[in-house]
Amino acid sequence: MFLPIQTVLTERTEPSIVSPGSEVTPNSHGLGLPSNSAVGGDIGGGRLRRTGIEVVGDVPWGSHFCQFYETADDLVDTLVPYFREGLLANEFCMWVTSAPLDVEEAVSALRAAVPDLDDRMERGQIEILDYRDWYVRDGRFDAGAVLDGWLVKLDDARRRGLEGLRLTGNTFWLEEAVWDDFYRYEEMINSVIGRHRMLAVCTYSLAMCGAKEIVEVIDNHEFALIKRAGRWEVLESAVQKRAQEAIRESEDRFRGLFAAMNEGVAIHELVYDRDGRPLDYRIVDANPAFEENTSIPVEKARGALGSRLFGAEEPPFFEIYRHVAETGKPASFTEYFPPLDRHFRVSVVSTKPGTFATVFQDVTDIYRAEAALQEYANELARSNEELERFAYVTSHDLQEPLRSIVSFGQLLEQRYRGRLDDDADEYIGFIVEGGRRMQAQIRDLLAFARVTTTGRSLEATDAGAVVREVLRDLTGTIEASGAHVEVEPLPTVMADPAQLEQVFANLIGNAIKYRRPGVSPAIRISAERESSFWRFTVADNGIGIEPGHHDRIFEMFRRLHTQDEYEGTGIGLAIVKRIVERHGGRVRVESTPGKGSTFSFTMTAA
Ligand code: ADP
Repeated sequence: MFLPIQTVLTERTEPSIVSPGSEVTPNSHGLGLPSNSAVGGDIGGGRLRRTGIEVVGDVPWGSHFCQFYETADDLVDTLVPYFREGLLANEFCMWVTSAPLDVEEAVSALRAAVPDLDDRMERGQIEILDYRDWYVRDGRFDAGAVLDGWLVKLDDARRRGLEGLRLTGNTFWLEEAVWDDFYRYEEMINSVIGRHRMLAVCTYSLAMCGAKEIVEVIDNHEFALIKRAGRWEVLESAVQKRAQEAIRESEDRFRGLFAAMNEGVAIHELVYDRDGRPLDYRIVDANPAFEENTSIPVEKARGALGSRLFGAEEPPFFEIYRHVAETGKPASFTEYFPPLDRHFRVSVVSTKPGTFATVFQDVTDIYRAEAALQEYANELARSNEELERFAYVTSHDLQEPLRSIVSFGQLLEQRYRGRLDDDADEYIGFIVEGGRRMQAQIRDLLAFARVTTTGRSLEATDAGAVVREVLRDLTGTIEASGAHVEVEPLPTVMADPAQLEQVFANLIGNAIKYRRPGVSPAIRISAERESSFWRFTVADNGIGIEPGHHDRIFEMFRRLHTQDEYEGTGIGLAIVKRIVERHGGRVRVESTPGKGSTFSFTMTAA
């Protein structure tokens, strides 16, 4: 007995050795081969092919086995029913033969079993060739060229609408010198066949093989057919069995993942026209989540053409899919899918030319929620804009009548003070004072509205120069309050210079205004780098702000004091915040009541 070969399986009327978990069906050959799932391949969604060889039964695409024979009759015995089944199942068949069975003998043996063989030969469904016309060209055997030859034949067959390629090759011609090359070829073909819609039987003459060759041949095939006591028997290869088990394990893993995923997964192959142009795709397999995401039953999808399934002349996203299948470059997109009236997020990958897999998720709800949110945001922006325009126009228009009230009030004050009674003088004073306050409020309101309406584009601005300008404007106030202002070197930032000036004017003005009674204001202006920003700081030794008010003081009209304590409109810090945010920065305050406040804001470095 040969070492790496498992025990001979005797007469096999019933399937046996079906490993648990394998998908072999009762009518299969029972060798424990996993039926090929389509995960990662194009070898068909688990459908089995009849070999026509009784002891073998059905096998999946991608099977590669061998036969040891002694006589020409042994070959006819297995190969005639093998090709008969292939022809009936619309497969492309290639019979490469050599002594002891020549082409003519092979043709007539097969013709006896397939009466319309000549027709089929004429139509190109079967080729029966001499080994010299296939294996040995230019007098030598070239493993790569032969392998490519099979793939070209398969490709051509598929394009002609045939199911796949069923082949046999005879090795009687093999001489010892070529054996090593052929052994490598068998190794290569083993890995190639497993991934394609191909069935292969390699026939070896027992008389030509020594023990070493027999062992090597069996290692390279899933199983071997051998005749003992007039009966064909199946020998399994231990090496192949281990490989099959490893494949099955990995397939179980992927199957499990495939079945458990929330995302729909569909595996496709491109479908070509006669000229080899891709014109459609076919769904080879899909997971349970496919149905959950699309409401299309997997059974309906499997094997269906994209165009038919979705009722479109060009199947959905065809160009994207074709590109991925042809280039291997993955793609992902989120798109509305009209046939189902849903939005999907789709990732497309291809691990083999002409095939691709989509992993997708129905994101309609998220998409609709996002769209609604966007709609609200637009609506909000629109109404904000309207409000701003309204604030601007009304404050602008209010200025005119207010100017009359204040100036005529002042006239009254000047001309009639002391000529009416004391009450009248007081009332006139209230009118003028109220009018002035209102003017200040309207002026600030206008300034607030203008932050966005008249803001200019940002330019490299020397903050030091801006602060010097502000301090010049505030000279009177600074001197009157006895303030000491210390300015550290300041950087250049990207800003609208007039607005940066407004920010510093407000912060420095407040630092002077909110001073502690009896304490001369000490103000320090500095800046420090924070990644791509500069953080400016205006620190004072004033009255400070209670922690609970730190955020609120930046709101419009928010004041912590009465007019009698400190004059103001409550708009200054709202303007500061708006300007800083328009520049992409943030403003904040840190403060200890009774000790002082530190306002800081960021601006992009120039
Ligand atoms: P206004 O000064 O016109 O009242 P602001 O918007 O400039 O309005 O300031 C809002 C409020 O924040 C002020 O009323 C004051 O209570 C507080 N505030 C601002 N700056 C300081 C500061 N440097 N120190 C203490 N409190 C301040």
